[in-house]
Amino acid sequence: MSQNSIAVDPVSSVQTKMKREVASASRTDRIPDSARVTSVTHWTGSLFSFKVERPASLRFRSGEFVMLGLMGDPNPKTGKSNPLLRAYSIASPAWEEELEFYSIKVPDGPLTSKLQHLSPGDSIILRPRPVGTLILDALLPGKRLWLLATGTGIAPFASVIRDPETYEKFDSVVLMHTCREVKELEYGKQLVAEVMEHEFLAEIVTDRLIYYPSTTREVSRNQGRITDSLSSSSFYKSLHVDPLNAESDRCMICGSLGFNEDIQALLQDKGLVEGSGNDPGTYVVEKAFVE
Ligand SMILES: Cc1cc2nc3c(=O)[nH]c(=O)nc-3n(C[C@H](O)[C@H](O)[C@H](O)COP(=O)(O)OP(=O)(O)OC[C@H]3O[C@@H](n4cnc5c(N)ncnc54)[C@H](O)[C@@H]3O)c2cc1C
Repeated sequence: MSQNSIAVDPVSSVQTKMKREVASASRTDRIPDSARVTSVTHWTGSLFSFKVERPASLRFRSGEFVMLGLMGDPNPKTGKSNPLLRAYSIASPAWEEELEFYSIKVPDGPLTSKLQHLSPGDSIILRPRPVGTLILDALLPGKRLWLLATGTGIAPFASVIRDPETYEKFDSVVLMHTCREVKELEYGKQLVAEVMEHEFLAEIVTDRLIYYPSTTREVSRNQGRITDSLSSSSFYKSLHVDPLNAESDRCMICGSLGFNEDIQALLQDKGLVEGSGNDPGTYVVEKAFVE
């Protein structure tokens, strides 16, 4: 062996590498705000949902969001990693023992390109400070609640439609969800089907929850934009309901920026006024993501 060469024990080198990888993978376990994944469902190539154990101290109101994520890649210079966190609506209702999230898979998205590979038993970082405006407390009393969503914007409403308090406050609830393609509606379809058959919720929601899925690109039974439907008398006739009005209707909006703006303009035209937790109104709005 030459004097310049360094003797490397191949076995101990592999062991060290493996130890480092395991330490890196379980790093979230050493962070106080970690939560263990209990199940993962992939709905399409770009949508998935997952459930985590609920931290005992975590209290939230249906419709709120939290910051969650994973440790980022180590900085090549310092070797240190920082948490990579994003806002996520809690899709499960406030009474549920587990927390459910519904997620996009953004190609090359810093968080979701990693998050989509979660498996049961993995840990995520979950900051236990829920906030948000899509809450019942931000709305003035009314008779009918409209939940208007595009894409993953259905997540907070998956929570709201499973909360019995929603039906204590409103006689009926209309969930309108639009996506480009039919397959992207599957999470919402199964969610509503489960609610309709749920051992406790079924009795509460029967004849009071109306679900209106629609597509904007692919041909389907309800093809078209939610704004167009809400402006069309034939839409209300087909659902056998009265047109949306400021007197008795309250709305929650969660979608892309363009969708939120279009719906807000339509609601304001009808006399509805934006509310917040501190100052309840007749509609509330939140971005489903930042563009
Ligand atoms: C209040 C709030 C609640 C949110 N709740 C959810 C949720 O429940 N589920 C969820 O998947 N995302 C949600 N988001 C978006 C989320 O915070 C992240 O942006 C998303 O997880 C992608 O993270 P990323 O690091 O991979 O990519 P990012 O760098 O965060 O995003 C890259 C780009 O991808 C697009 N994008 C990001 N999120 C979405 C999305 N959900 N739908 C369509 N395009 C998107 C945007 O153009 C964005 O600029 C929420 C955002 C906000 C502000």
